[in-house]
Amino acid sequence: MTAVDTAVNTPLGGPSLPQERRLVTSIPGPRSQELLARKAAAVASGVGHTAPIEAVAAGGGVVVDADGNSLIDLGSGIAVTSVGNAHPKVVEAVQAQVAQFTHTCFMVSPYESYVAVAEALNRITPGTHAKKSALFNSGAEAVENAVKIARKFTGKQAVVAFDHGYHGRTNLTMALTAKSMPYKSGFGPFASEVYRAPLSYPFRDGLSGADAAARAITVIEKQVGADNLAAVIIEPIQGEGGFIVPAEGFLNAIVDWCRANGVVFIADEIQTGFARTGAMFASQRFGIEPDLITTAKGIAGGLPLAAVTGRAEIMDATHTGGLGGTYGGNPVACAAALASIDAYESEDLAARADQIGSVLTARLAELQASDPRIGDVRGLGAMIAAEFVDPETGAPDAALTATVAKACIAEGIIVLTCGTYGNVIRFLPPLTIGDALLNEALDVVAAALAAA
Ligand SMILES: *Cc1c(COP(=O)(O)O)cnc(C)c1O
Repeated sequence: MTAVDTAVNTPLGGPSLPQERRLVTSIPGPRSQELLARKAAAVASGVGHTAPIEAVAAGGGVVVDADGNSLIDLGSGIAVTSVGNAHPKVVEAVQAQVAQFTHTCFMVSPYESYVAVAEALNRITPGTHAKKSALFNSGAEAVENAVKIARKFTGKQAVVAFDHGYHGRTNLTMALTAKSMPYKSGFGPFASEVYRAPLSYPFRDGLSGADAAARAITVIEKQVGADNLAAVIIEPIQGEGGFIVPAEGFLNAIVDWCRANGVVFIADEIQTGFARTGAMFASQRFGIEPDLITTAKGIAGGLPLAAVTGRAEIMDATHTGGLGGTYGGNPVACAAALASIDAYESEDLAARADQIGSVLTARLAELQASDPRIGDVRGLGAMIAAEFVDPETGAPDAALTATVAKACIAEGIIVLTCGTYGNVIRFLPPLTIGDALLNEALDVVAAALAAA
């Protein structure tokens, strides 16, 4: 393809893209196939992909490919473009910043937008206590730094993570992550002083929040000991692990135990953050105030940025120069974050997440009523999942899940799977998707399930 072709055929992204599902070739079309062949030859095969297309534009609730197909986006690039792809405010802020300066390194010559992002995060995260923030490039890097900060503050070393947890792909975050395939297998040895506690998984354990918390706390006390424990890290709703919503009271009891035992409670809100669950942060939906919160994904409309935000006395425990990184809080990413946070607030996207969630939950519950292969429908806001099971035994049905997801993609719906057992389809549409598009996508999901 020549540069001229690209200019003529590639639409600009953003909300003005036609909001429609349009299939003009089979998926993948010829141009996408060409790119996938180049990918196979040039890109390490460890880097997989879900939808076999060449993306050329995206916005509102669609992703357009190089063959002219328009797919409905129910994944937001894994909960990243919650504010909408190529959101006009983000585009404008990025264009202005990139023309001004692209990098100084905040640790060399500080600039205003980094400070403004820290101020915004300190303001919008749960709790009115004094807070501070530090910025990084990726979710995994934020998690690593939250653990560093908690260790420095407490003078202790152990960290507890939970069954089904996902915290990233670097060495320490692989250790914190539960699932071996594909995240860890063959990549060890992993960081030490990481321990795992049982989660609250109401669909599978049937425990109340209090009982599940007591079970976890016993494991923590007996196998680790509060005297050795720097931090407990948990996703308020497990993301990659299967959109597992803990039973009521579970998180609150864990927070209370941490506070009583001098343990830093870290909420990993990298997937749940930024209006996704119907509040700016999921912690607010559960009524908890974490000591530290890690954020990334939805923070900057698709630009790479991540943060640790938390109690000022914990954040300030580290010696000057102990935190940082060359690119952390890049000015272009910070400009995008400020524009995104402005859009989340001024467009009340948390309320929109709840409306989207109502549509998703109602439609999926209706499907479940007539199809016992849907074992559970759960989630908060626009973070909703269906767990597929063998109706006789309740055993996870990963094969059915993969078949449905594949059929959806072939019909122009980008859906993502997740779950320790690979038997969950998760719905994470951009919060700018319209109801018509959302319902059309769910029609396709229903048809794919019926045909499977
Ligand atoms: C995606 C994710 C991470 C890792 O973020 P990266 O930016 O991919 O490093 C960590 N924690 C949670 C909960 C995530 O969903």
